[in-house]
Amino acid sequence: MNRTSQYVGGSASPRRGCLAGRTRCTGTGDGRGRTVDHDSDGEARERAARRDEAVRAAVEQGLLNPAAPLVGLLDVTGIRRAAAGLRAAFDAVTAPGTPVLHAFAVKATPLVPVLRLLHDEGIGAEVASPGELALARAAGVPATATVLDSPAKTPAELREALALGIAVHADNPQELDRLDALMRSAPSRSPLGVRVNPQVGGGSIEALSTATATSKFGVALRDEGARDWVLRAYAERPWLTRLHAHTGSQGVPLALMAQGVVETYALAEEINRRAGHRQVDTIDIGGGLPVNFASDATAPTYAQYARLLREAVPGLFDGRYGLVTEFGRSLLAKHGTTVARVEYAKSAGGRPVAVTHAGVQVATRTVYAPGAWPLRIAAYDAKGRPKQGPAVVQDVAGPACFAGDLLAREQALPLLEQGDHAAALDTGAYYFAHHYAYNSLARPGVYGFVPDGRGGVAFAVVREPQPLAEIVAEAGGAQAGALTTLPAAGRG
Ligand SMILES: *Cc1c(COP(=O)(O)O)cnc(C)c1O
Repeated sequence: MNRTSQYVGGSASPRRGCLAGRTRCTGTGDGRGRTVDHDSDGEARERAARRDEAVRAAVEQGLLNPAAPLVGLLDVTGIRRAAAGLRAAFDAVTAPGTPVLHAFAVKATPLVPVLRLLHDEGIGAEVASPGELALARAAGVPATATVLDSPAKTPAELREALALGIAVHADNPQELDRLDALMRSAPSRSPLGVRVNPQVGGGSIEALSTATATSKFGVALRDEGARDWVLRAYAERPWLTRLHAHTGSQGVPLALMAQGVVETYALAEEINRRAGHRQVDTIDIGGGLPVNFASDATAPTYAQYARLLREAVPGLFDGRYGLVTEFGRSLLAKHGTTVARVEYAKSAGGRPVAVTHAGVQVATRTVYAPGAWPLRIAAYDAKGRPKQGPAVVQDVAGPACFAGDLLAREQALPLLEQGDHAAALDTGAYYFAHHYAYNSLARPGVYGFVPDGRGGVAFAVVREPQPLAEIVAEAGGAQAGALTTLPAAGRG
């Protein structure tokens, strides 16, 4: 495994802390110039084979059973390889000694053991709420490997981040005012910057396009006076040393993402020219690499994106700037599988419908916006073996009480029968870890798996299945009489 990543994290990181501490980082990059592509066909086939083994073992070992008809599975081997592939991709294009922090966007998979695993692979955390920061801290991610950028930080959040030494990107002038006040009241080790929106345009999914003209994120760079405001803000504040942009997510073409980085880099160069020295020493290029949900192939790869960026913005990679990335979906999506038992198999209007336990509560986006978020479904039999048989066009439905609760519409699969299993693939990011409490459906258990070295599969509990008592407690169970004990208007 390539262990050249320069920075920061757990055991994978020989030069721990060198970005955040701004110390010189030396002797890196044996991957330089080499193309490291971890996403060959072979890799995709191996991943699919591991998944099949895990589904079979989950049934055999009883994780999935009639009383626990829904689980999330995480491929630990795949996650480790994706992390190594990310590090190698940027090691291959950066000058020796370049500090690089890859901060995983916690919102993609907010599970503490996942954050710890990534930390162990040299990956930090990008957090956007007090909850996400608490998860990163619980996972042991150090402040120096944590980045806070959210559009609505409270004064208390900002104060805490500065006290901890976490990097913060101000979203707007009002937030910069708050940082001014905090910096006057106490010194901080936090690297600080401003988030800009290069307004390069959106992708195919409106809700996920962050660089449109009217996006709510960052300082809209092309608005009248905005660029001058940014230049002045940096000129007046020598402690602004970073610049941040995150130009999109699923649905945004790579070329457009690269354009966002080009413009952010140009702004950093202009700030530094005016300052007469390298005031901006680190550029945070955000995340947003899209994921291929149509097959097992990983496309595009981190290596492709890193090479494209080096072509488009060579100056960013010549060693004058430290780099921060914030990938989420692309690190985890392909390593998660949602598996549900088929409770009933029926037919309606001539169409077969498999009624399963995976619906809107674990695949919210897919159910509400099926056009933007289609998922591949794999059919497994009652014993968890890949189901054989001719493909039949069928619907795969969830357990919730509304007609639109469909995991898949008109997918061609071997006919699902009662007791079989339906697996929603590529659901490791923004799916089963993002529970939606419709119908008070319980959060499923999440299990990480690895081959056990003896031809079987070993599982670890990542998150216990949610007990009913917890659902009741979260629904005000301890306050059952709260409303009836209020004095009723007009009654004694
Ligand atoms: C959501 C988000 C990311 C991660 O986006 P992905 O598409 O999951 O890679 C990174 N940075 C910021 C600021 C975000 O809001």
